[in-house]
Amino acid sequence: MTLSKQPVLLVHGGAWAIPYDAVDAHQHGVRKAAEAGWRVLEQGGTALDAVEEAIAVMEDDDTFDAGRGSFLNEDGKVQLDALIMEGSTLQAGGVGCVERLRNPIRAARKVLNDSPHIYFVGEGAERFAEEHGIALCANEDLILERELVRWKDAKKQKFLTVPPEFAGPPMDSHDTVGAVALDAHGNISAGTSTGGTLNKAAGRIGDSSLIGCGCYADNLSAAVSTTGWGEPMMKLVLSKWAADRVEMGEAPQQVAQAAIDRLQSRLKGHGGIILLDSQGRIGLAHNTPRMAWAWRRPGENADGVQSPRG
Ligand code: ASP
Repeated sequence: MTLSKQPVLLVHGGAWAIPYDAVDAHQHGVRKAAEAGWRVLEQGGTALDAVEEAIAVMEDDDTFDAGRGSFLNEDGKVQLDALIMEGSTLQAGGVGCVERLRNPIRAARKVLNDSPHIYFVGEGAERFAEEHGIALCANEDLILERELVRWKDAKKQKFLTVPPEFAGPPMDSHDTVGAVALDAHGNISAGTSTGGTLNKAAGRIGDSSLIGCGCYADNLSAAVSTTGWGEPMMKLVLSKWAADRVEMGEAPQQVAQAAIDRLQSRLKGHGGIILLDSQGRIGLAHNTPRMAWAWRRPGENADGVQSPRG
């Protein structure tokens, strides 16, 4: 097999405002994730493996709204969603509303590899994961005191599960994680993992783990991961919309900005997006005050909590 491409990895650690006292943790977290994914790519590994490793690192990091440390839903439980997708075959694996998995992205990967199906939810997803060698945990193992306090506060304020517009407590908070990668074989992949939104209704699934909404990958177009208020992104099928624009010839950075502009102008939505095509061109945009990101290319690495591209 020829190794022809220079690998590229781009990760995000969520949009929203990211309060000042959480900025360092977010930057450190995305940097660690990028390092983990980059190690895979440097050794000639696949984009799919790099995405899985980068996301697992952020799920293990309490800083993010993914894995342990996620927001609590209206029942006071952590309920997680994740999707991973491979751009040469369009194979994908997703899990939704899982409560007993530390790393939903690893379960999603098992679905991609070992199932004729694409998406499992709830208990069936957990059973599938366990049958494929992933140990289950207790939901309490995923709950942080920090999140219990935040959740009780949200309940007191009668915070709406789905506010009509971007407003309110979650903006001042942490967020979903995602990664896109190009490997030396010329293949791209994408993944997204989330605890969803604060005090969300039990059973609610957002954009993150739905194909074409919060995540998409096709070698012919782009690998995409989004973050932000999920419902508007789902209505716009935003990741696929963006990938299609790249396939039609637009540059990923231009498309990233156009996607966020569309989200805002059409539905007053807010969030962020990362994009990567199989030529290694990247795009990154957000209309929230901050978004944590990091990228790696041979001889080049960068990270931040605000778009470097304005
Ligand atoms: N998009 C996620 C959701 O709506 C949340 C986020 O990215 O902040 O579940």
